[in-house]
Amino acid sequence: MAITVVGSVAYDSVETPSGRYDRKLAGAATYFALAASFFTDVRVIAVVGEDFGPEQEAVFKARNIDTRGIEHTAGKSFFWEGSYLEDLNEAKTHNTELNVFASFDPKLPDAYRDSEFLFLANIDPVLQRRVREQMPGVKLVAGDTMNYWIKDHKPALLQMLKGLDVLLINDTETRMLGGDKNLVKASRAVMEMGPRILVVKHGEYGATLFFGSAESSGSKTFKAPAFPLEEVVDPTGAGDSFAGGFFGYLASQPELTPGTFRRAMFYGSVMGSFACERFGTERLEQLTRAKIDERFNLFRELTHLD
Ligand code: AMP
Repeated sequence: MAITVVGSVAYDSVETPSGRYDRKLAGAATYFALAASFFTDVRVIAVVGEDFGPEQEAVFKARNIDTRGIEHTAGKSFFWEGSYLEDLNEAKTHNTELNVFASFDPKLPDAYRDSEFLFLANIDPVLQRRVREQMPGVKLVAGDTMNYWIKDHKPALLQMLKGLDVLLINDTETRMLGGDKNLVKASRAVMEMGPRILVVKHGEYGATLFFGSAESSGSKTFKAPAFPLEEVVDPTGAGDSFAGGFFGYLASQPELTPGTFRRAMFYGSVMGSFACERFGTERLEQLTRAKIDERFNLFRELTHLD
């Protein structure tokens, strides 16, 4: 089943211990769409400036991603500059320029209306909510956010969270949003804000799925490890690629059972690990489904007990 995703389509300048690059095509929706495209049809809603041309469009087209919802306008695309010099698990933001996103009014193309899955990738929560409101009948809505929006856009973020089934954020963001140093308590607080399922990402330490309410005895967790990589070249986009693998797998399945969610956590980890192996979107651009399944099977062996 098709996924519609809204989020940043951006240019990034990034420095990691392995090197640096300037103004490469990136953004939360780009990483998510590339990763999810190995599992199902993906349709993007975003806005780009005059710096986004046929070469960038081709990156989406090569993966058969629907770009009719990417609006082209005068000005510059979203720009993010960050580094991972002290900690590979946590980006340090040096500069965020919303540019064309500052005045974006997202419109759902008619061709996207039958999407049964909606992903609100990282962007202004006001924009996430506007897209959510245009798709009231979807089967499952998941979303992401980051410290930038938690710190300075909290009221809008809280409104957006009410419209989510699943939230995917990292552990620092969970503690920040939930207002508790203890991750379990913070997660519970976050789930009271709207999402009934929470995926907390721990960078190189994997991810935890929280579901069920605290009051009922049905409160449960499930943990997926991260794939042990010898070299993390660039962690940028690992979270969005995790989300793409996780949500893409869910959307490709006939039924959403607890087992489907557990396997989705593994596919999320697989896609996150691939994203880290090269700079920017490089690895995702030349990946194949066979390579993905090969790593998924290695994951199985890694975690199997007898
Ligand atoms: P992650 O998967 O968390 O590493 O996301 C990385 C991507 O998020 C980068 O390609 C950035 O362009 C994008 N990004 C960074 N800051 C923001 C922001 N405040 N809103 C939306 N997207 C952002």
